[in-house]
Amino acid sequence: MSDNSKIASRLEAWFEQHKRRLPWRETTDPYRIWISEIVLQQTRVAQGLDYYRRFVARFPDVRSLAAADEDEVLKYWEGLGYYSRARNLHAAARQIVSDFDGCFPETYAGIRSLKGVGDYTAAAIASFAFGLPHAVVDGNVYRVLARLFAVDTPIDTAEGKKLFAALAEELLDRRAPALYNQALMELGALQCLPRAPLCGGCPLAFRCEAAASGKAEAFPVKQGKSVVRPRYFNYLVIHAGEDTFIHRRSERDIWRNLYEFVLIESDGELSFEALQQTEAYRALMSGAGQVMYLYPPFKRRHVLSHRIIHATFHTLTTEHVPPALLAYLRVPRKELPHYAFARLTGFYFEALRKGLFPEPPSLFGR
Ligand code: SF4
Repeated sequence: MSDNSKIASRLEAWFEQHKRRLPWRETTDPYRIWISEIVLQQTRVAQGLDYYRRFVARFPDVRSLAAADEDEVLKYWEGLGYYSRARNLHAAARQIVSDFDGCFPETYAGIRSLKGVGDYTAAAIASFAFGLPHAVVDGNVYRVLARLFAVDTPIDTAEGKKLFAALAEELLDRRAPALYNQALMELGALQCLPRAPLCGGCPLAFRCEAAASGKAEAFPVKQGKSVVRPRYFNYLVIHAGEDTFIHRRSERDIWRNLYEFVLIESDGELSFEALQQTEAYRALMSGAGQVMYLYPPFKRRHVLSHRIIHATFHTLTTEHVPPALLAYLRVPRKELPHYAFARLTGFYFEALRKGLFPEPPSLFGR
């Protein structure tokens, strides 16, 4: 038996014994596998499971997803982050209806042509749903392969990506690609952990170069960390009677098409008094008359992949509705739960629900 087939057979036997029972592993429906793969990008299984269940209960097939409103799709994604995933799912469902007559494409090229589907996801769907011989390479697979062969080429370089893709293809068990791919990913998730891998019970320890040299944690190698940029969001939650003002983000940076309160972004953290001195505040609130602070400011630091958002929510009411707010959506506050907001705003709602704000109204000048 060659080394490669020994790796595959040990891996597959280990998987049969240790795999987690997950709903998307009990099906070969490409639609459900696709949804699960997109949910699980950047999301832990424990958190993704509920979202997956709710999503496929509401949108059980391509046509129901394609027929839905984007707002509703985003609502089902609310709190999961990386909202472009939901927008792409929705767009791809419509693409399947228009280009594939509503039938999920059955070839790698067809699957790969869908919006938001990259090499990894296409290989996962092609192998799990259709048994096609395509190797998956996700973070778990990078880690296992890098350790198994002590590969020190950085995984975040073009050269590394090419090398690992070729290595994964070479090792793939072409007779059972679905089983093999899932087994390799599961080994990375349960055994070959980023810190303190459990080499003792690992089915691949017999062949693992990194484990043999006692340097498992040194792999995989990464070239460089990306810079995390701070941003400062000053939200104005302006109450006008029972209503408040929101708008839909159209910026291409983060949270596109999600809703948010009136936002003034600044270069640094500002007190409310300092915010009032900014041009943006003056332009927005001109004509507001007296401004009354309803709750103390709510502050929250929110970490995204390449940004840290320092947010402050100012809950206010004004003597008059400033004309600039006519450009915003005026909605009854009790209807806010019907709109999809980013998780950051969810923390503000949670604080409100938990009654974390005392209510000493204070007045700020005109
Ligand atoms: S022996 Fe250890 S380092 Fe090597 S693949 Fe198994 S768990 Fe990972």
